[in-house]
Amino acid sequence: MRTIGMLGGMSWESTASYYKAINEGIRDGLGGLHSAKICMYSVDFDQIEKLQHQGNWQAAAEILSQAACSVAAGGADFLLICTNTMHRVAPEIERAISIPLLHIADATAAKLQENNVKRVGLLGTRFTMEEDFYKGRLTDIYDIDVLVPGNDDMDIIHNVIYSELCLGKISDGSRLKYLAIIDSLYERGAEAIILGCTEIALLVQQKHTTVPLYDTTEIHASSAVQRALQ
Ligand code: GLU
Repeated sequence: MRTIGMLGGMSWESTASYYKAINEGIRDGLGGLHSAKICMYSVDFDQIEKLQHQGNWQAAAEILSQAACSVAAGGADFLLICTNTMHRVAPEIERAISIPLLHIADATAAKLQENNVKRVGLLGTRFTMEEDFYKGRLTDIYDIDVLVPGNDDMDIIHNVIYSELCLGKISDGSRLKYLAIIDSLYERGAEAIILGCTEIALLVQQKHTTVPLYDTTEIHASSAVQRALQ
């Protein structure tokens, strides 16, 4: 079994979901008392979040690149960045390490292609929904059309992530708002919705809607399990 490297803590609420999903995947794959071999560096999210909102991606890239080097030195065979947003600095992190990165958008695109989904709605932080590092990868490499919510809805999605989900607060009112936004993306032609922020599945799960959901935490974790067992 290969050792899975994780850059976690962004936020730790979702890193806990990754840790559980990966260990369950290895247990199901190998049986008995098997559990995942993991080397993780969990950062202080307060520092990262401030740099994101200041637009200081360079400083964030340096912190994460150093952390990634520690993970590689600790024996990881490949790396997961356990957040969609911080894939904004994935190229810098990749340049700093000699182990491969398992990109969250590639794992998600593979799943969408498997199910022949060609047009998706994307929920995530404003950085993920607005900028090109994520949407562009889905469209340019995988030919998947990406729809994002309008400006006011983006605000709702973004603010709930930082002021509730990353703090472990789950609110029925916020869930209803998310579900209304999911419905409006569906009405605009999205065949499915990417939960493109690793905390969203703490709030919205498939049982809450008939619109197909693609949970990036679950997809990324299960793709890591597959690679670890290859
Ligand atoms: N975990 C989130 C994501 O997947 C947001 C937190 C962050 O900014 O990293 O994008």
